Amino acid sequence: MTVHLVGAGPGDPGLITRRGADLLSRADVVVYDRLVDPALLSLARPDALLLDVGKRPSGADGGPGGAVRQAEIDALLVAHGRAGRTVVRLKGGDPFLFGRGGEEAEALARAQVAFEVVPGVTSATAVPASAGIPVTHRGLSSSVTVVTGRVGEAGTGVDWASLAKAGGTLVVLMGVATRAEIARRLMEAGRPAETPAAVVEWGTTPAQRTVRTTLGALGAAEVVAPAVVVVGEVAGLDLGSLAARPLAGTTVVVTRARGQAGPLTAALADAGARVLELAVVALADPEDGGAALKKAARGAGGYDWVAFTSANAVHRLVPLLRDSRGFGPARLAAVGEATAQALAAYHLVADLVPVDGAGGAAALAAAFPDPPPGGRVLFPRAADARRALPEGLLARGWAVDEVVAYRTVAAPPPPAALCHELAGAQVVTFTSPSTVEGYLAQRDPAGRPLPVPPVVACIGPTTAEAARRAGLAVAVEPGSPSAAALAAALAARLGTAPPTAP
Ligand code: SAH
Repeated sequence: MTVHLVGAGPGDPGLITRRGADLLSRADVVVYDRLVDPALLSLARPDALLLDVGKRPSGADGGPGGAVRQAEIDALLVAHGRAGRTVVRLKGGDPFLFGRGGEEAEALARAQVAFEVVPGVTSATAVPASAGIPVTHRGLSSSVTVVTGRVGEAGTGVDWASLAKAGGTLVVLMGVATRAEIARRLMEAGRPAETPAAVVEWGTTPAQRTVRTTLGALGAAEVVAPAVVVVGEVAGLDLGSLAARPLAGTTVVVTRARGQAGPLTAALADAGARVLELAVVALADPEDGGAALKKAARGAGGYDWVAFTSANAVHRLVPLLRDSRGFGPARLAAVGEATAQALAAYHLVADLVPVDGAGGAAALAAAFPDPPPGGRVLFPRAADARRALPEGLLARGWAVDEVVAYRTVAAPPPPAALCHELAGAQVVTFTSPSTVEGYLAQRDPAGRPLPVPPVVACIGPTTAEAARRAGLAVAVEPGSPSAAALAAALAARLGTAPPTAP
């Protein structure tokens, strides 16, 4: 019903606001720019209409495109807004800082279409910060001026001589092409040639690069857009973080069922990786709509044990109990830590988790006690689950009632912009056999299979076996099957040494 002008942040998809991410996940239509990381698009609904309005060449400095383009974008926003859709207009950085968000707001107001502005983290301060440059600093600079480097844009004359006299920090956006001219004017007006200057390209992304120079040498510095130019004493500071980010510069594809990659994405992002989340499987109700599962849930208290081999099964069964005392005297078994944690989310403590966390369902069956006479186990499972657990338990003398808790089905094809990014990824992670199969079965919008990145990482032995069966060479497999261990194993394999203090 509303058009939301949302700031996407400076580059790193983690730097969008919570409000922005929330709106993105609900939007009917997403209209995005060239400087928006396609990784953000995986937050959108699979059926959302994604419109790339940044494809045509824009300004030489990577600035927003020309006036005709802008009129088309305005018209697009008005049309979708009028049609009653929830529209997210996703813009790099903050929508109201050199983003032409003001013009879009005016167009929407003129057309009487409801709109909202969701501020964003602007590159003007965030990009210098990510390079260790605070734009103000006690004793060095008590003011900061953000200015466009586009010289001679109609009605936007910048008085460089006055800026030079005012002192303080200058942050120039869209200034790569005109840096020599800008430096010359500032020096003519009295800023010394030895004033520190820094150029930060692709800030907060894996391609980030900082060139440190002086005002006198700025024109000759070899730099590419998009970049932020900082001029002033603070440009000489280097307060980069000392946190270990061994996967900085690495792009990792995290395959998942929709809404599931949380802990793995977080662990990889902490290690500095850029994560592309890709839904390759979706969870669906069992063929019978869940009737058998509901019945099984009602009878759960009549079993000796309920065995879970996935968090999905936990999330499907437990909410059907109405009251967690519905388990009665039944004890709970979990195949590994992730599954046990899913139970813990309902304040249920797993009575049995195999010590050999990497052993999978076979290890779980082996860890069971011997059955009492007539001992029974309830096993809520995926429709296509492997046989290791029921067979292992039967062999031990247990009676096993299996009930289908969910089906994994193919996910809709990923957006074209995301498929395009996959070609540059170094790593793909798999967390279940169904994600392996789902990835290989997935097609891009043109009907081609997705590229497989050079490094294949699997969370545990069952998944690795499935990957090998499918003909993939598995390069990374952690000692225990958890998100944290997988991220650590990748860091050990690919990581750069953590930076040391100067
Ligand atoms: N509204 C945006 C700015 C749009 S103008 C914001 O608030 O950040 C586009 C300019 O922003 C680019 O030419 C460049 O100067 C700067 N910019 C945006 N993202 C950047 C990034 N990740 N790294 C370096 N510069 C960036």
